[in-house]
Amino acid sequence: MAPRCPSCKGKMETDPPHYVCTSCGLVINRYQFDKMKREHFAASKRSDDDPEYEQKKKNKDYLDWYLSSNKDKIDED
Ligand SMILES: [Zn+2]
Repeated sequence: MAPRCPSCKGKMETDPPHYVCTSCGLVINRYQFDKMKREHFAASKRSDDDPEYEQKKKNKDYLDWYLSSNKDKIDED
């Protein structure tokens, strides 16, 4: 999977030891890229402070349920 720009989510070209965003021109090195990825991951893992987290989880549970129940329906036909 191609790395995504942590700033604009654009496509990033690897230009060792740097990553260059083809969309906004952001240039970061590997260390910064890993650090930003970790911070993004940590932020997305946070649940206590994110009031939307439970709702997102519910939506996902519902989607899983919907898809699986839909599949059952298709199997029955
Ligand atoms: Zn960018």
